[in-house]
Amino acid sequence: MAFEQEKEVAVAAATAAAIVCEKVRATMVPEAIEKKDKSPVTVADFGAQAVVCKALMESFPSDPVVGEEDAAELKTPEMAERLKQVTSYVQEVIPDASTDEVTRWIDHGNGAVASRYWTLDPIDGTKGFLRKDQYAVALAMVAEGEIKVGVLACPALTLELKGGSATGILFVAVRGEGATMQAIDGGTPETIKVTSSEDKEHFRFVESVESGHGDQSLQSAIAQAAGVTTESMRMDSQAKYGAVASGNAVLYLRLPSPKYPGYQEKIWDHAAGVIVVEEAGGRVTDMYGETLDFSKADRLSTTGVVVSNGEIHNKVLEALKAAS
Ligand code: AMP
Ligand code: MG
Repeated sequence: MAFEQEKEVAVAAATAAAIVCEKVRATMVPEAIEKKDKSPVTVADFGAQAVVCKALMESFPSDPVVGEEDAAELKTPEMAERLKQVTSYVQEVIPDASTDEVTRWIDHGNGAVASRYWTLDPIDGTKGFLRKDQYAVALAMVAEGEIKVGVLACPALTLELKGGSATGILFVAVRGEGATMQAIDGGTPETIKVTSSEDKEHFRFVESVESGHGDQSLQSAIAQAAGVTTESMRMDSQAKYGAVASGNAVLYLRLPSPKYPGYQEKIWDHAAGVIVVEEAGGRVTDMYGETLDFSKADRLSTTGVVVSNGEIHNKVLEALKAAS
């Protein structure tokens, strides 16, 4: 089996990060700290990045990590209390962690795209996390421009598994070896497949909760043109990729928001989700049918994202062409 160690380390790291995030949600009302780009970050985002980066540093010291967060602000004197708080949550899974180590681990995520690298969103969907909705710890490894391993931990997602329904789902994919899901807190991995368009119950689409992260009126029009007649399921984070990969939806549309023209999608918002869907038999492109290129930079150069069960993909792309 390929990338056995990468998969094992990524699963353990994302699971530990999910424990940190859930502990934060259970024991405090996380406050949003505003970043320079006005997006929110919480103690849980920092804690999760520290935990994952430490694991990657130890197991794959020469692989750069392109993570969403950095510790620059957290290291300032005004943030001393916050850093202590982050450290105490990290200690839930790494008991002897110190504040210095925590900032060093977080900053290990300041790496750049290289011939082989990891990309990490410690909390994808921070707004969902703050709302007590969906969020995901998203981690992927890219080599020679191809996503090889992807792990998505979705602590608040409830899905039907073979042993009954579970809240807290872990999706795992390795290139060429398929995709699985399992309960985060243990359980056996089950192979997942996208669903066929004949499956009327799941012939539905997912989109963001945040209206500013897409174009909801165009998304609804395009879904209708592809034959989806029901309301969308609105969901934060890459849990949407999990919904398509596990056959709970046939389509995820993320078309550029008219409020933020020119927004460039970030690699950590997609890499793990893309491989999970592709290995489950689905297809991912931008809104013009271009593949997403993870070999260049931390931002994708393509526009919008279309994720489907494969079967309806061309129909969706044609509808987009006709609408433009
Ligand atoms: P979601 O939970 O799917 O709505 O996506 C959350 C992600 O949306 C965050 O991680 C941000 O990186 C990203 N994001 C922020 N602004 C925008 C925007 N204008 N368009 C698309 N995505 C965005
Ligand atoms: Mg994100």
